[in-house]
Amino acid sequence: MVMSAYQTTNRYLEQAFDVLALDARYKTLLITPAREVRVELVIELDDGSISTYIGYRVQHDDSRGPFKGGLRYHPDVDLDEVRSLASLMTWKTAVVDVPFGGAKGGIQVDPKGLSRRELERLTRRFVDKIADVIGPELDIPAPDMNTNAAVMGWFFDQYSKRHGFNPAVVTGKPVELHGSLGREAATGRGCMIAIREVLAVEGRALAGTRFAIQGFGNVGSWLARLLHEHGAKIVATSDAHGGVANADGLDIPRLVEHTARTRSVVGFSGADVISNEALLVSDCDVLVPAALGHVLTEHNASQVKARYVLEAANGPTTAEADDIFNRRNVLCIPDIWANAGGVTVSYFEWTQNTQKFKWTEDQVNVALERHMVDAHRAISGLMQKYGCSMRTAAFALGVSRVKEATDLRGLG
Ligand code: NAD
Repeated sequence: MVMSAYQTTNRYLEQAFDVLALDARYKTLLITPAREVRVELVIELDDGSISTYIGYRVQHDDSRGPFKGGLRYHPDVDLDEVRSLASLMTWKTAVVDVPFGGAKGGIQVDPKGLSRRELERLTRRFVDKIADVIGPELDIPAPDMNTNAAVMGWFFDQYSKRHGFNPAVVTGKPVELHGSLGREAATGRGCMIAIREVLAVEGRALAGTRFAIQGFGNVGSWLARLLHEHGAKIVATSDAHGGVANADGLDIPRLVEHTARTRSVVGFSGADVISNEALLVSDCDVLVPAALGHVLTEHNASQVKARYVLEAANGPTTAEADDIFNRRNVLCIPDIWANAGGVTVSYFEWTQNTQKFKWTEDQVNVALERHMVDAHRAISGLMQKYGCSMRTAAFALGVSRVKEATDLRGLG
């Protein structure tokens, strides 16, 4: 039976519990979300009709700090997926040692079917419905799939109507509206640092390394730009409409321009056409899922040609595929470290908002580098100590930090 997203995350957690020989008393506590909210969102569409959507916010753990995690707008959003993503955030914030817990939210909607005004109404309605359980010291949302700085700006504005001026309630805001320099590129930059560190251990460099990237949105396109700047070759990339490939390396600055103009990588000149399925098993050194979850499965994992899988997306690898990668010695660089650059710079944004003091882009990037590299050192230490996979080591790191905070705070 194929495991759900939440079951998969819990299986990775159980593997970490095993290597840590964790006292059984803690297991249920660490697995179970603290709070789950489901809300009905009714809005009037531009044509005067009425439409109803379902929104969720799952708050998983706040022992290390306020709940923190993105908001996703997608037709596949459901409680199981949001639970899984919320749990991943708990371990991610602990791995990069930022003072937050884990949460996630989303609305089951295809935003491409809504006008900008409808999307704004839907976002504002969602804020109203969850306003009592979020806040700068309580739960701080951020962008995720199909949400961006503009959505975060509406979010901040709507929350502030009820609670007064409060930019620290949400991160990933426009730079002109209390956002942080470097936030938009942060997840891609963090992914670039992660693979650079992993390659360096094996005496390799980014220059000349061949990448295939599924997804050319915020994370995928920034990662592609930064890798390109460092001399890496992007041999294939894709979006929801299809993919493009070039064995000599795609001209990324030109592809970014093309995508800004046409809203898709499809139709880019100087490239072959490739399907999303073929991209995942294409000839490359590093495969980067940077779109949806559960795309690497028991059906394609044994055909993956890459030596490394860099999990820019959340939960892209099923438990069955993970076993196959471990058996085949394909090194999976886990989401809870690989894509943690976004939440790390979200922490810097929240810090700037609460201190009412702006950092330079250089300060942001230097601090991001330090959090990512320190996390790599800690994960590598645990891989050696326990002789386990990088994923299990990353989960073990996150679990041990959350457990320690839980112990120190006490259950009283
Ligand atoms: P985005 O909406 O900006 O981009 C998503 C990309 O995936 C788009 O190019 C889209 O066309 C493509 N896509 C959608 N469906 C697809 C399909 N069926 N096949 C192939 N491509 C498809 O989203 P994003 O913010 O870049 O997020 C991408 C992933 O990264 C998500 O898993 C998200 O959870 C994760 N992530 C994002 C951040 C962040 O800061 N934005 C942080 C950590 C993790």
